[in-house]
Parts: sequence; C-alpha cells; structure tokens
Amino acid sequence: MTDIPGYQRRHSVPVPVGDVTVGGDAPIVVQSMTNTDTADEVRTAIQVADLARAGSEIVRITVNSEEAAAAVPAIRQRLDDMGVSVPLVGDFHFNGHKLLRAHPRCAEALAKLRINPGNVGKGKRRDPQFAELIEIARDLDRPVRIGVNWGSLDQELLARMMDDNARLATPQPPEAVMKAAVVRSALESAEKAEALGLPRERIILSCKMSGVQDLISVYRDLAGRCEYPLHLGLTEAGMGSKGIVASTAALAVLLQEGIGDTIRISLTPEPGGARTEEVVVAQEILQTMGLRAFTPMVAACPGCGRTTSTFFQKLAGDIQAHVRERMPQWREHYPGVENMTLAVMGCVVNGPGESRQANIGISLPGTGEKPVAPVYVDGEKTVTLKGENIADEFKEIVEAYVRRTYGAEAP
Ligand code: SF4
Repeated sequence: MTDIPGYQRRHSVPVPVGDVTVGGDAPIVVQSMTNTDTADEVRTAIQVADLARAGSEIVRITVNSEEAAAAVPAIRQRLDDMGVSVPLVGDFHFNGHKLLRAHPRCAEALAKLRINPGNVGKGKRRDPQFAELIEIARDLDRPVRIGVNWGSLDQELLARMMDDNARLATPQPPEAVMKAAVVRSALESAEKAEALGLPRERIILSCKMSGVQDLISVYRDLAGRCEYPLHLGLTEAGMGSKGIVASTAALAVLLQEGIGDTIRISLTPEPGGARTEEVVVAQEILQTMGLRAFTPMVAACPGCGRTTSTFFQKLAGDIQAHVRERMPQWREHYPGVENMTLAVMGCVVNGPGESRQANIGISLPGTGEKPVAPVYVDGEKTVTLKGENIADEFKEIVEAYVRRTYGAEAP
C-alpha cells in the first residue's frame, strides 16, 4: 500500500524485534504501552493481550522495580499460554542495570530493551550504568531503543551545549540548542552503544517531544543524520481529541516525508476508557494515509439539515464496530479483507455517489425522501432495503461480500 505519488520511505537498517522487523522495507510497525503495574502479572498479561488483539505488533511494559523485573518472565509465559506471541519491550531507567543483572530471566523474556540516556544515572554513574545495560543487550543479542525524551534530557549535555552556544558571536535561541541537544543525545548514545559492541542492526532511535512543530523539526534533523530505524511518537500528547489531533498532525507530516519505521500514540485514556484506543488511532493514521491496511474503513457523511434522523450515524458506528469485532476471524480466513471499503450516507445528495465508490455502500433516506435505502456493491445498485431490519440486513450483505470476495472460493 505504498504506491503513493511522491512517497519515498527513508532508508534504514532493519532491526529484528522478536519475530517483527522494524525498519528497512518492513511495514511501519504499530506499538503500544501498558499502564498496569508490571508487578501485577495477571493484569499486565491481560492488558498486553488486549493490546495485541487490537493490533499492537510490539508492546512495551515498564520495568521499574524488583517486583516488576521478577514478574516479566511470568507475563511472557502467560501470554504464550494464551497464544499471544507479541514481542515485549522492557522500559528501563536509572535502576535498569541492577534489575537486569539481578533478574537474568527478565532480560531473556524481553524482545527489546528501551533505554532513556537522560535517565540511566547521574554524574559519574551515568556512563558505566549505560554501558552495563548495553552489554546485557549485546550479550543476549537483544535490540535496544535509545529513547530520548525532551522532558528527561541529559542535563549535563544540555548545559555544555548552552555554554558553547553562549560563547558564539551570534548564539542560537535556547529552544534551538535544546532540540540540537535532543538529537545529539540520541546519536552520541548510539555511537557509544556501537563502540560497546552492540551491532548497528540492533539499534533503534527515538527523540520524543511534546510540541508538534518541535517533534517534526527534531525528527527531520535526526532522519538526515543516521540510518537507524526511527520510532515516532508525540510524548504527553494528551487526552481525547487533543491527543489524537496533535499526534496525527505531527506524525502525518513525518510519515509523508518517509520518516518513521514504528509509531506509538501516547494518549491519556479517559477515566474508564480503553487502553486499546491508542492502537486504533495508530492504525487509523497509517491506514487513512494509505501506508498500511488493517481494518475495512467506513466512510460516513457528517449529516446536515437534509437528514433529521440519527439513524445513519448509528448505522455507521454500528458497522464500524461490527467490522472491528469480526476482524480477528476475517483476518484468518479472508486475506485482503482489510482493504475493503464501506460507505454509510445520510441522504440522496452524496449518498449514491459515495456508495458507488466504496465496495459496499448504503444511502439512507434524508428528510422527506422515500423511506428506502439503496445498497451498492462494487459500484452497482443491487438491492433496496426498507423497514426495521436495515442494519442487520446490511451486515449480512457485508458478510456475504467478504465470503465471496476474499474467501477460498473467491475468483
Ligand atoms: S449526504 Fe446528505 S445528509 Fe449527508 S452531509 Fe451530504 S447532504 Fe447532508
């Protein structure tokens, strides 16, 4: 799905993460992160499984304590028992080296380590602790994501760069120095990791920022200076529509420029909201941009004064939910079904036109129109639905189309 005019993926060295490849010619990978206490192995394994079933291809868990490190092998085992093979990534900070030494089975159960170079230790302890983490990864042949976050940027590096800048005849604004420090922290850490024996094809970089323009500027800079695969994400994106819009705005610009080999959407869930929303948003960004296909997309009109009924909105929501629910089985039996397109339209103005463009479309009656709903399949009007059971009948038409078009007996 990358026959987009003018699109060219930036070259990167592919890195294996378990049985998933990040970078090179591999599809852009969707990642997510749990928000359970990792020490609670049951809840964490259940959430990882939920994220994986929603489509997360790699899942990160924090490993912040002895209890969390001790729980990691049990989480892996529970996932294997559930038939969930998704690679697990451990997120390590200032005590990561100790936890990994004390719990060797933890490192073995992980497919990748994420290390934040600004947070592995202070002063004299930073370099040896960073080296210890890298050596553990090297000896176990595990890839490492060197993940810089501007909120925990290496303050000594930043202070040095600010001092050097102040001595220039025309100093840069402090924000420019900060962004340059973020990129330098990632690149210098990668250089140190390679010097410690971690192969180039085991390194992934990220430089997360919380501002859209900052993220775009930092990644453009980073992308032009290395061939490591890049993990994209706007950190602290926020809640609800703000988080989704900010992440989409930032990532869409970079992805369109061919930058980004794996993405994560850092949404703050609404209280009681599903953690899997971040996976759905990541997939929808990639799919609506034409970079990957995961689930059939439902086009729906926004509605207007020509339709006073909310029936078509309910039907559009119902069909999208149906498609997501059916996807795990469809994916197994009907290869290619993820490319199917559906349209649910509110009246005769754009209804028939949009419905004809989709694989299956339905045009519902607007105010004052005859209470009938013509259905179009591959551009042809096939049937007109009416009465109380339009939703169920339309779903049955979709199911029959999937069997006919993507099943084993498909032409
Ligand atoms: S298809 Fe009809 S109801 Fe929907 S936005 Fe267009 S004019 Fe309004």
